[in-house]
Amino acid sequence: MAEEEELMTIRATALSLPHNALNDLLSVAVCGRCIFRLFGIPASSSYSSSLLSTSLLRSLLLDEEPPASDSSQQYQGQEPGFCSICLGVLQLAYYNREQDKCENKTLVCDFALEISQLVKREEYNIDGFSLEISLPLIISANEKAIRLYMKKKYGSEGWFQEKFLAEHISVKDALKLSITSSLETLLGVKSGVSSFRIRLTYCHAKASSKLQSTNHSLDNGDDSHVQSRTECTEESSSESDAVIRRTLDSLQDHEFCERFIFPPEKVYEPCSLTFRCYRMPIYIGGRYLKYSRNVSQTCWIIDDERMGEASVEEIISSNVLPICKGDNFKFHAAGREDIDVRMLGSGRPFLVEIQNARHIPTSADIEEIVDKINNSKDKFVMVRNLNLVGSKAWTLMREGEAEKQKQYAALVWISRPLNDKDLQTISSLKDMDILQKTPIRVLHRRSPLERKRIIHWMMVEKIAGSCQYFLLHLCTQAGTYIKEFVHGDLGRTHPSIGSLLGCKAEILQLDVTDVKMDYFN
Ligand SMILES: [Zn+2]
Repeated sequence: MAEEEELMTIRATALSLPHNALNDLLSVAVCGRCIFRLFGIPASSSYSSSLLSTSLLRSLLLDEEPPASDSSQQYQGQEPGFCSICLGVLQLAYYNREQDKCENKTLVCDFALEISQLVKREEYNIDGFSLEISLPLIISANEKAIRLYMKKKYGSEGWFQEKFLAEHISVKDALKLSITSSLETLLGVKSGVSSFRIRLTYCHAKASSKLQSTNHSLDNGDDSHVQSRTECTEESSSESDAVIRRTLDSLQDHEFCERFIFPPEKVYEPCSLTFRCYRMPIYIGGRYLKYSRNVSQTCWIIDDERMGEASVEEIISSNVLPICKGDNFKFHAAGREDIDVRMLGSGRPFLVEIQNARHIPTSADIEEIVDKINNSKDKFVMVRNLNLVGSKAWTLMREGEAEKQKQYAALVWISRPLNDKDLQTISSLKDMDILQKTPIRVLHRRSPLERKRIIHWMMVEKIAGSCQYFLLHLCTQAGTYIKEFVHGDLGRTHPSIGSLLGCKAEILQLDVTDVKMDYFN
């Protein structure tokens, strides 16, 4: 019954169109969906019906009697060749490169099934999807050619002014209208704004190279910026497409007509189509604590040799990635400590960016990740406040990284006994400016600069039974080199603990005790 209704709707719509124009479009091999969208037939209509074909439209023109519903099957038959505008895209036909065969999925449900099977094969766990469609530029050129042809012929007629010049539906939108509801049913979720993307990339190497050579002749032989394109891929096409699009857009109508053959040649090969689905990066954020002086923040390898026993990045990510079933990860942290510096106190904010996650972790999954990391055998690293966070966390962390204050505890040795005046001197200094030249130890990888940094406050904690060793607690602006602030780096950091106390000072151990950043609390 539904089919009968579909047929009635298509029939009524088709017969409301000017017959001579409809006939004209059919005679130059424009497909049913392209005809409907050129006339701006509203979105609610027949795009998703598998019955909307050129053979049906043609038969409606010949015979205005509604065909009996049991004979509707015959209208799904294929005609040789593909649409001269969309090159088969809206006929749901495509060339399958992997299997080297032409797919004529005239039925919307078959086409949608192909996509839903891919999503299921890859085991995506989804709560929605959004469709992304990429089309070869030749389709825009074809459409422009047909529209100019129609304008020349029917430009003065009322319906042309009203319908053809009014907002029409693009090939992309028409394809979405055709397949979205079937996809929603098959996937069991709604389409909309989603981090899960289904991408359909259409290419037509043959037609596109023809367009390129047309473009080439427009450029009077200057081919310096037109790449030759044998392989048609998403990446390679965007740049040369932009060049061609600019040229096409700059053409006057009459110039365009001179360049393009009309009516267009018959198309016997549809576009090739690549299906791909992926999820936009998801982020898991929190704070980490590092209890080892032999674990680096990121995996650190020099000349094939690993520095330290492990890295924070690997310990955390190796527990996150399997649960999210992602392809890859990136580790971001708010600053870093040296390999021999522990990260204590509240911990350091970090984010793991997971690419193409098949699964978005639930709160139970997050707990499991925390459990695994915090109860590992070595206990080099622990995490706290672990959460699934939005992508804005990345920006907040980057901003916070530069602005925020850091707190440290340093074990310091000085060349003479510590006295009470020293304690006074140190604790009386508030928001003191210091100048730091790039430390000698990092000069090989950082450019030589002089930076101003602020030491917000300091406090000395005496160590019982020792007069030349003490713990220095200090709070500084992010980006301060603490080791250099203690020993002075041969005068490259000034003032330093050594210069303030008028003696030699060395740093033996350093711990980060707090990294202030509200968002990650
Ligand atoms: Zn078409």
